[in-house]
Amino acid sequence: MLEQGRKTKAVGLLSGGLDSTLAARLMLEQGIEVHAINFWSPFCTCTAKSAGCPAVITAIKQLGDITLKRVAMGDEYLEMIRKPKHGYGRGMNPCIDCRIMKLKISVEYMREIGASFLFTGEVLGQRPMSQYHAAFDIIDRKSGLGGLILRPLSAAYLKPTVPEQKGWVDRTKLLNIEGRSRKKQISLASGMGINDYPCPAGGCLLADCIFGERVRDYFARVEKPSINDIPLLKTGRHRKMPNGDIVITARDENEGNTLLKIARPSDHLLVPDFPGPVVVLQGIDVIGSIRILLEYTKKDVPQNATVKHVFNGNNEIYYISNFTGVPREIARRDS
Ligand code: SF4
Repeated sequence: MLEQGRKTKAVGLLSGGLDSTLAARLMLEQGIEVHAINFWSPFCTCTAKSAGCPAVITAIKQLGDITLKRVAMGDEYLEMIRKPKHGYGRGMNPCIDCRIMKLKISVEYMREIGASFLFTGEVLGQRPMSQYHAAFDIIDRKSGLGGLILRPLSAAYLKPTVPEQKGWVDRTKLLNIEGRSRKKQISLASGMGINDYPCPAGGCLLADCIFGERVRDYFARVEKPSINDIPLLKTGRHRKMPNGDIVITARDENEGNTLLKIARPSDHLLVPDFPGPVVVLQGIDVIGSIRILLEYTKKDVPQNATVKHVFNGNNEIYYISNFTGVPREIARRDS
């Protein structure tokens, strides 16, 4: 599609999942110049901070001729999750506010590159909280983009948008998909040669009710939430003690190594010199936390076992006295 001798540009929200990849392909097939934007947060289940999102990179390879901008969500995103105007879904997922925030960022990008509209892979009726007519209306209105957000997969069920009215996009070639089944999308994708995409179960930890409880508890006890604290919320077994301390125990060696990397100076790090879990304490009861470390130690504790305690840059050693492999007393070296 030409606009004043040039291709019409559009920004597409691309998660790398099947729906957003299909939406981008539909736009490319209509001659639109697609610029993808992808949002990363520590709540994404498939992406490590240091790595590119594997799903979006695969999607870009399959789509070919499009650019990609990646945006890391920061403390403002966390603040929105703490107090969403439109509430939560099943877990701590504030989907409507999340979409509004991401669309507002996308619109800045749209203006920056001179794009004419935005599109998403949303499907009417697919997600209970944010993908139904009224939610689309709220999202469009509150993001300030009324009429400029095209949802190519469900367009037949939605009011014509500006790109359709202006003829930048041919509405008759847009789709009529609705509901939770992905059969239509899978069959379409296969016809388009799109065969590599993540299963729909992946995505966002905030929608997980158990993790949501951790997030709720974190907001209740931390005055200034920081996005840098989230990796710790995602790692290990968390136990809340009667005094309010949180004790995080690694469930395996990998988690132990992760805890060693992500514990903050203000956390107490407990590292045994015997085969036992690394523990992070957010609180004050070091001895109580070493007892928990011992609880999760599967083998007998050897004689003269020690636990290194690191806190605010200082190290100290705790000795565990034991006779028959059963720990009895825990004492600091200098006591
Ligand atoms: S599932 Fe998570 S990432 Fe997706 S819209 Fe909801 S809060 Fe945002």
